[in-house]
Amino acid sequence: MSAKLGDVVGDQVDRLSEPLTKVLGPRTSGALAKLGLHTTGDLLRHYPRRHNDPGKLTDLSRLQFGEHVTVLAEVRQATVRLTRNGGAMMVAIVTDGRQTLNLTFFAKHKGALRGHEDKLKPGRVGLFTGTVAKYAGYRQLVHPDYNIIGLDVADEAEGLVEAGRPIPIYAASAAIVSWKIQAAVRTVLDPLTEADLPDPIPEQLRTRLHLGSLREALGDVHEPYTAAQARRGQDRLKYEEAFVLQAALLRRRAEAAGQEATARPRKRGGLLDDFDAQLPFTLTAGQRQVGGELAADLAKASPMQRLLQGEVGSGKTVVALRAMLQVVDAGGQAALMAPTEVLAAQHVRTLRALLGSLAQGGYLDGPEGGTRVALLTGSQGAAARRENLLDAASGRAGIVVGTHALLSENVQFADLGLVVVDEQHRFGVEQRDTLRAKAEVAPHLLVMTATPIPRTVAMTVFGDLETSTLTEVPAGRSGVVTHVVPADRANWMDRAWRRVREEVDAFHRVFVVCPRIDPDEPGAGGKQAAGAADDDGLDLLAIDDDPADDGERPRRPLRAVLEVAEELRALPALAGVAVGILHGRLSAEDKERTMAEFAAGQIQVLVCTTVIEVGVDVAEATGMVVLDADRFGISQLHQLRGRVGRGTAPGICLLVSGEGDGTGTSPAETRLRTLAETTDGFVLAAVDLELRREGDVLGAAQSGLTSSLRLLRVTRDADLIVQARADAAQYVNADPTLATLPALRAAIDQQLPAEREEFLDRA
Ligand code: ADP
Ligand code: MG
Repeated sequence: MSAKLGDVVGDQVDRLSEPLTKVLGPRTSGALAKLGLHTTGDLLRHYPRRHNDPGKLTDLSRLQFGEHVTVLAEVRQATVRLTRNGGAMMVAIVTDGRQTLNLTFFAKHKGALRGHEDKLKPGRVGLFTGTVAKYAGYRQLVHPDYNIIGLDVADEAEGLVEAGRPIPIYAASAAIVSWKIQAAVRTVLDPLTEADLPDPIPEQLRTRLHLGSLREALGDVHEPYTAAQARRGQDRLKYEEAFVLQAALLRRRAEAAGQEATARPRKRGGLLDDFDAQLPFTLTAGQRQVGGELAADLAKASPMQRLLQGEVGSGKTVVALRAMLQVVDAGGQAALMAPTEVLAAQHVRTLRALLGSLAQGGYLDGPEGGTRVALLTGSQGAAARRENLLDAASGRAGIVVGTHALLSENVQFADLGLVVVDEQHRFGVEQRDTLRAKAEVAPHLLVMTATPIPRTVAMTVFGDLETSTLTEVPAGRSGVVTHVVPADRANWMDRAWRRVREEVDAFHRVFVVCPRIDPDEPGAGGKQAAGAADDDGLDLLAIDDDPADDGERPRRPLRAVLEVAEELRALPALAGVAVGILHGRLSAEDKERTMAEFAAGQIQVLVCTTVIEVGVDVAEATGMVVLDADRFGISQLHQLRGRVGRGTAPGICLLVSGEGDGTGTSPAETRLRTLAETTDGFVLAAVDLELRREGDVLGAAQSGLTSSLRLLRVTRDADLIVQARADAAQYVNADPTLATLPALRAAIDQQLPAEREEFLDRA
C-alpha cells in the first residue's frame, strides 16, 4: 500500500517504506503480512482498536460462544492434574471479579505444563486470547495465547509502571496476537525520530491548533502511559486524516478548475429560448436560481464541477435539460447518464416530450436548428444502436442519453460539452471520470442526486464538487401519506388491497413493489434476492440487520413479483383490474412497453421490483404498496415513495412489514416508523445515518478516498471535517500543487487510488 512512498520525500529517504522483513524477524513479518502490513508505515498506521484500562477487567459475562476474543482478566487459581489417559491437564480460572473463564491446557506430562504454572499465578493480570468454547456449561479458552502484564521487565519498579499503562489492543488474527503486534510496533517505532516521520500537517498549522508532531502522536497511540495521552494521539491522527482527505479533494478541485474547457455561454434566440417559451409550467424559484448558477458555470472556460441535490420530485430533469440546451445552442453536445435502462428510456421519453418538435432536428418535418435525443443502452438491438452511435459521433444528436453503455469505448461524440450524471449514488468516481475523458477538452460536469446528503458527507464524498440544492417541490403536489401495515394481520392486508382498488377506481395507478422476481429462485429467504432484481446488475440490496438472523430461525421467503402478480389477479378485491409486471429481466422493449402501458392506464396495477426506484415519473400514479418493506433501506424507500403523489392527487404509500407494526425499536421498525412520520429527505438522511454503519454510508464505490479512513467517522466527526476543510483550503489556495508541502503531497498520493490520478494526468 505504501509502495508509492518508496520515493524520496524532500531530500530524505523515506523510512516508512522500509519493508518489515528488514526490521522484524521472518515469523513476525510473515504474520503481519497476512494482516496486509508490509512496510514500517503500514504497521505504524495500524492503530490500536482500543486501549484497555489495566485496572478495568473485561466483562466476561458478555463473551459469546464461538467468538475470538482478547480479554483482560485476573488469575484466581490454577491446578494441574492427570487425565484418565495418562496425560496432564491444567485448568486456570481467570476472573473479572464476578464471572469466571477457564483456561485449559493439555500436555503429555506434568512437567510440560511448568511454564504455564510459573506464569499463571493467582493475582496476576493478563491478556488472554482465544476462541470461546463451551465445556460442561462453562466458558473456556483451550490453549489460549496470553501475556501477563509486567512480567517480562527488568525490575519491580518498571513492572509496576508497565502494569499501570493502558494496553493497546490491535486488530489481530489467529496468526499474530495483539501483544505481539504491540511488541513489533515498539521495535519499529522506538528508533524513529521526528525527522524520519515527515508530518503531513504543516508545522505552522500544528502550532496554531496545539497539535503534537506525527512522531509524538504515533507514540501516544501505540505506547501511551495514560488514557489521556492515548486519546490525544488519536485526536491528532484523526484530524490528520480529515486534513489530508480535504486537501486531496481541494487539490483535485483546483486541478480541475485549472483545466481548460470550452465556454458555452447562453445564446439568445436558440433552442433554450424556444424551450422556455413552450414550457407548460413556470419554473420554481429554486429551479430558476440553480439554472442561473449552471448557466454562469457553463459560460466559463474552466469545467463546471457541480453537484445538484434535489428532493425527490423537485424537478431536476428540467434544470438539467435547460443546461444541456445551453450547451447545444453553443455548438456542443450533452450526455445524460442514468443508472438503469428503465430510467434512461424514461429520460428519453421525458426529454422528447418536453422538447416536442425541438427534438425533431434533421428529420424532414423538424424545425431548423432543432436537435435530436439519442438513446444508448446495453440491450439495444444492433440496428438501433448503430444509428444512435452515428447520431452521437456525427453530432446530429445534441443530447445522448444512456446507461453505463455510454462508457463503452466505441461511443464517440463530435463535441462533448456537458456530462450530466443522474442519481449519482449508483455511480463511482471512476465512471464519472471515464465519461469525462471522452471529450478532448474537459467537459462541464453536473452530478444530480435525490438522496439528500448531510453536509459533511457531501464534503467528504463529493468534496471536489460545488453544490447546488433544490429544496422546494413544485406547487400543486399533494404529497404522500405513508402507513405501516403488518403483513401477518389479514384484515389490515384486506384493507390495503381495497385501498388499492379505490385508487384504481379513481383512474389512478398503483405500484406494488417486491424485493424479488421469482419465487422459485434459490435463496428464497436470502439477502441477495433484492439485488438480483435490478436490470444492470447493480447492488440495490435491501438491508439485512436482523440480529436474530443467526441461521437458526427459518426465514419467511421474500415476496416475488411473479407470485404476487398471480395472487393479485385472483384477488376478488381487484377483480377486473389490469395487473402488469416489470422487472430487470424483461427485455428493454418489454420494459419500455410496460411503462408506456402503465402511463396510459392500460395497466393499472404494476407489480415490480426496485427497478422503478429512481426517477420513474408517471403523474397518475398515486398508490404504492411495498411488500417486505422492512428489508429495504430508508433512502431506498424514500426514493420508491417519491414515485407517487407527483400529480395533483394525493399519494398513499403502504409499507407492508413482517417486522411488527412499526411501533417497536428494532432498526427495521425505526426505519419504517420514521418514513411514516416524515417526507423530509434531510430528516430521513439523518436518521438513516444514525442507524447505519459507516461503510454503508459512504459505499466504497463512491469514493476510493474513503477506504483510507481509519479513525475518522464522517457521521460523528462533522465538526472536525468542517475545520479540516477550512484549514486545508488555506494551504491549497496558497499553493495548489502543494509543491511547498512535500509530506502532505506524499500522504495524498498514498490515499488517491492510482486510476484517479491517471485521469487527472490525462485530462
Ligand atoms: P426529480 O427531481 O425527482 O428528478 P423530475 O425532474 O422527475 O423530479 O420532476 C418531477 C415532475 O415535476 C416532472 O413531471 C416534471 O415535469 C415536473 N416539474 C418539474 N418542474 C416543475 C415546475 N416548476 N412546475 C410543475 N411541475 C414541474
Ligand atoms: Mg430524477
